[in-house]
Formats: sequence, C-alpha cells, structure tokens
Amino acid sequence: MLSRIYSSASRGIEPVLVDCEVDSRNGMPSITIVGLPDVVVRESKERVISAIKNSGYTVPVNKTLTINLAPAEIKKVGAYYDLPISVGMLVSTGQLSINMPDKFMMIGELGLDGSVKPVSGVLLVSILAKEKGIKYVFVPRENAEEAALVEDVSVIAIGTLKECIEILSSGDIVRYQKEECKTDNTKTTLDFSEVRGQSFAKRAGEIAASGGHNFFLIGPPGCGKSMIAKRFPSILPDLSEQEALEVVKIHSISGKTKRGSIFKYRPFRSPHHTISYAGLIGGTSNSKPGEVSLAHKGVLFLDEILEFDRKALESLRQPMEDGEVTVARALNSYKYPASFILVASANPCPCGFATHPSISCTCNSHQKQQYFRKMSGPLMDRFDLVVEMSPVSEDELFSSDRAESSIDIKQRVKLARTIQQKRFEGRQITLNAEMTDSDISLFCKVAENTTDFIKKAIKRYSLSGRALNRLLKVARTIADIELCEDIKLEHVLEAFHFRRVMEYV
Ligand SMILES: [Zn+2]
Repeated sequence: MLSRIYSSASRGIEPVLVDCEVDSRNGMPSITIVGLPDVVVRESKERVISAIKNSGYTVPVNKTLTINLAPAEIKKVGAYYDLPISVGMLVSTGQLSINMPDKFMMIGELGLDGSVKPVSGVLLVSILAKEKGIKYVFVPRENAEEAALVEDVSVIAIGTLKECIEILSSGDIVRYQKEECKTDNTKTTLDFSEVRGQSFAKRAGEIAASGGHNFFLIGPPGCGKSMIAKRFPSILPDLSEQEALEVVKIHSISGKTKRGSIFKYRPFRSPHHTISYAGLIGGTSNSKPGEVSLAHKGVLFLDEILEFDRKALESLRQPMEDGEVTVARALNSYKYPASFILVASANPCPCGFATHPSISCTCNSHQKQQYFRKMSGPLMDRFDLVVEMSPVSEDELFSSDRAESSIDIKQRVKLARTIQQKRFEGRQITLNAEMTDSDISLFCKVAENTTDFIKKAIKRYSLSGRALNRLLKVARTIADIELCEDIKLEHVLEAFHFRRVMEYV
C-alpha cells in the first residue's frame, strides 16, 4: 500500500514542496530511502523504527518498505522528515488511517523515545502551505510560534509521535490548532541615554540611522565605540510586518530562531574577527546564510575591523553593492538577501593611543601608515561617515545631565525616513545612502553660497568626486533630519566633519 504525506525542503530561502511517499509490500524486511537524501536523512530509518516501537506501534517484519522523497533533484538535508516518514510508514502498513492527507503538511525530527524535536526552517513550511492552499501544518511544539507567524495557516503543535497519531486518527484536527502566535515584544534594554558624552558620535549614529549610511568609529580603546554601536539598533525604526517576515525567514533557515524570539526589532550581528569567509558571507554546511544575511534589514557591526581577514572584508563589497549575496556550494547556488547598515570600529593606530589626549602613542609613522592599508580604498568608500572619538572627559563622566533617550532620537529618524520615502516614491530606493550619482545631482542641489564653500573644500582638501558625493548624501540626510527641503551651508558644514579623515586612507 502506498501513502503520501506532504513536507517541505528549501532552495535558499524559497520553500519547495516535498512528497514523502512510503510504499510497503510483502517481502524481505528492509527499509530504503531514495530521493537525494543526505546522511542525516538516511539515518532517519533508525530513529523512526525506535520511535514507532516506543510509541506502541510496530514495524512489520514481513514488509519491504521504500521511502521516496520527491522531487529527487533537490537534496534533502537534516532530520526534518522523520515525522512524515513515520506517519507514512504507519499508514502504508495499515496501522493508521487518515482523512484528507492533502490537507496537511508536517515536519519534525524524532527522538528514539518518540518525542518530536525542533528543527530549523519551520517558517518556510507555513509559507509554502499558504501558497499551496494547504490548511494545516504539523510542527514540533517548540517551533509552533514561528510557524504561526503566517496567517491563514492552522498550526498543530506536536510534542510526541503518539500525540500526532492520536490527532490524525481522531479525524478532528481543528480541535488541536494553535490559536494565535505570541510575538516577543520585549524591548531592547540598551539605550543611548546610558552613553555619557560622545555627542558627536551619537549625532553620527542619528544621521546614519536616518539615511541608512554606513559609519566608521575610530578612537582609542575604552572610549565607547562598542557602546555606541550596540545601541545603534535602538534608534532604528521597528521592522514592518513584511520586513519582519523576511528577517525571520533567514533566521529560520539558520535555525537561529528560539522559542518566542519572533522579533519586530532589527537584527544586530557582531561576528568575532576570527570569523571565516564562509561564516561571514554564507555557504557553511548546507549552504546556510552567513552573517551578512543574518544582519539583513539590521546592523552588521565589525568591532576592530582591521583585525578581520582581508579576504573576508573584501567579500563584503558585493553584498553591500547588490543588497544580496550568492552562496554556491557543490551542486546548488542560492541567493540570500543581505541589505544592512555596516558599523565598523578601529583603534587609530596599532598601539591604540594616537589620538589619546594624555597617553602617548608608541607607533612609528610607517606602522601608522600600514595600519589602515588592510582596508582597501573601495571598501573604505562605502563608509559615508567617519567619526573620530576621544575618551569621555571627567566632567562628562560625572555630569548629572541625562542624555537624550533612544526613543526621542528614533522619532526624528522615523520622520527623516518618511521624507525620504516620499522623495523616492516610484523608485527602487528608499534611503539617501542608496542614491546613485544621477540621483545625487537630482536631489542634492545646493544654494550658490554653499557651492562656493564646496569648491574651496575640493581644492583645499583635494576631495575626489566620490568624496564629494558622500558629502552631499550625508548633507541631504542632515537637511531631512532638520526638516529642510533645501540643503543649506550649515548642513554641508556638518557633513564635512564626518568626512574621511585623510591620515586614515
Ligand atoms: Zn600608536
């Protein structure tokens, strides 16, 4: 007898329907799995046999069982199919009868005792079910909240194989559906008001958040670079529903979503400098997304960026250009979204104290020159704002003034972003940082007195065309924060403070 249960596989972040067929016929006892399974899937039969027995059912000794996972051209990875395989085996051996097998999908790993364990990528199963008009999805209990993010799909949370069998044989699945999804609205606890002094760096953060600009913090150890970077997401607007789904999809495939961690806040990723190229870009085992994709719609913070492998750093240029990354591995190549704000930090020199007001630097000029060489010009060009930070003064440290909170700054950021959305209506872009050269000449017109200043600055500091464009983009954002339609001299002057400091090139 043949049984068919629906499940899903993924091609990058796109879900694909998998038919899990089990055929049983009289013969020598054997179980074969076909349909491009990986080692974990092949081992599934051992887990499934134990789980079935420990749930009070049997695996007949006079049957030859063939399990086919179709379509065969997609590699099936992980232990996702334990649940559909075991249910299929029980149906095909006549121990379980189910109504409407085309009305549900299932996914889940089994323990030897029959317990159902969480798996990654559950959100994609729900998305697929909705696309295909399949009403119910059976998922491990711990993944139920994530699966329930998709509307119009009824999620049945399963703790054990026995429970799953009971629900299926009762013929009344509706009774077991999970009613609502609880989203995690826990607020991030980090706030800009905790940062004493550093008003210049905080202002840079506000401009970066408003216009989507990448920014670079340079300063001696302990001056608060990481503190600013870690609080940066708290001034970014919350994710829209559409964006949240996009973000959770990527995190779901990576198995990074935990129970109750369905977020509306933007991701903040801060990989260690020893991270490999594959870890950063993607393509580790099973072509999983890398840090650039996990930071999608959020922030990628590279603390001490000069300590990172040069090859890994250079690989950032392509996703930063395209907003997506292609991960190739063996037979498959997948595209993952990777649109993020890059925040980087570095010491000003190898010893770290070149710009310190009281500790003297022990580096020679050659060492200082070599230090920033690790960053190529084109990568450095991606930073619209460079901020030189000094240690906080004693007066600022002991001041009783409370600094502005993240919520207040966030309000201004939101307003500035709304202005940009209106400006770029009908275009591919939504933020000032994304403007092309032609956009800049269209949207960054300046008054005559400002043009004079810019001309003088170009001459005095030998500014390149690129540097000028960065300057204008930042000035545009500053004008938007100030709710000014025109870019005024004061906006350009402020933007000029955040230019690339020449010694660091
Ligand atoms: Zn030094």
